[in-house]
Amino acid sequence: MRAVTWQGRHDMRVTDVPDPRIEEPTDVLVQITSTGLCGSDLHLYDPLTPFMTPGDVVGHEPMGVVTDVGADVTSLRKGDRVVVPFNVSCGECWMCGRGLHSQCETTQNRDQGTGASLFGYSKLYGQVPGGQAEAMRVPFGDTLPIKVPDGPPDDRYLYLSDVLPTAWQGVEYADVPDGGTLLVMGAGPIGDMAARIALYRGHRVIVVDRVSERLDRVAARGAETIDLGSTDDVPEQVRELTDGRGADSVLDAVGMEAHGSPMAEAAQKALGLLPKRVQGAIMTRAGVDRLDALYLAVESVRRGGTVSISGVYGGAADPMPMMQLFDKQLTLRMGQANVRRWSDDILALLERDEDVLGVEDFATHRLPLEDAPMAYATFRDKGDAMVKTVFRP
Ligand code: NAD
Ligand code: ZN
Ligand code: ZN
Repeated sequence: MRAVTWQGRHDMRVTDVPDPRIEEPTDVLVQITSTGLCGSDLHLYDPLTPFMTPGDVVGHEPMGVVTDVGADVTSLRKGDRVVVPFNVSCGECWMCGRGLHSQCETTQNRDQGTGASLFGYSKLYGQVPGGQAEAMRVPFGDTLPIKVPDGPPDDRYLYLSDVLPTAWQGVEYADVPDGGTLLVMGAGPIGDMAARIALYRGHRVIVVDRVSERLDRVAARGAETIDLGSTDDVPEQVRELTDGRGADSVLDAVGMEAHGSPMAEAAQKALGLLPKRVQGAIMTRAGVDRLDALYLAVESVRRGGTVSISGVYGGAADPMPMMQLFDKQLTLRMGQANVRRWSDDILALLERDEDVLGVEDFATHRLPLEDAPMAYATFRDKGDAMVKTVFRP
């Protein structure tokens, strides 16, 4: 079959790979009909290079149709329509039982010191073949895939795989008080969807980014916006909008590749020049992230407020503003989304006639899988007004 494979730094290609097959009696096979391109895939494109192997099948936002089920699978049948969560979680262990699916104890990567495996996401997370492909093997067939109704277009349900639960969890963790203001750093797919969810819940929302088309999209849904390119003092502007106090809650939807962190960017680039074996060792012990967005979040939140981090960070030796965090008495929450913790609640919302979160118009690009190399480069460069790409294999 055809699949998007990682071949090297900035080198994704569509190649022939072996067809997936049932390996465990609890597996199902899914023929992919739609599959998303995510900001997290961009980390594989560059900073997570040390943890990638040429030929790795990437992608973690797929949906499609079940084509085969293992002997022990009872709740799915051939022909069922399913969305596949990005976490590989068993649904039955101690962690999954507590809604912490991204920490699943059945798939935790203890050798790497990381949480649950993720589809298509490097050796750090189990090196599980991903979903930017014509088909995929999905373990835990009875508990992991999300069965969705036939009828509406794929885009109605596709974002249950990642964007929706991630943004949902980010907003939950932000703990916005009644009548409060949520500041969202970043208007990529995650920040955009988080803004939509917070607006839907009745919060006031301010979004910060430097890409004007992205800010226009969230403004059209009712958010206020701050353009990073037109101010050198985001926190001051946020205070002006919030009675001098700062936002009650801030959601960082940017992560490790933030703009405005020249030292860390230089360090990440320098790391890239070292042999790959050494890169991995340095990154897991002394790696640094580009923390600009997180610093802005800490500065812009009011005293006693909450910072919720959805953006992915991977540095083990990040300098954090501990004095400010402590002095301002902040609450910090973060983590990979626990997709199955939230997916039933969100599915109920998606099943309404009215598309309250605007998911059917969320994608800016719908492309054949063969266009993936171009799409990765365009998405990284924020070109062609691209916000969300959905491949149709
Ligand atoms: P994206 O890369 O398109 O979005 C990031 C946005 O942040 C861009 O629009 C960029 O212009 C903006 N930005 C960059 N620097 C900024 C700064 N200093 N201040 C404000 N905005 C800035 O990707 P995305 O798909 O929206 O993903 C966003 C982050 O969420 C990524 O780090 C991704 O890995 C992460 N993510 C996390 C989870 C999870 O489970 N926690 C799931 C999916 C994605
Ligand atoms: Zn994703
Ligand atoms: Zn589990």
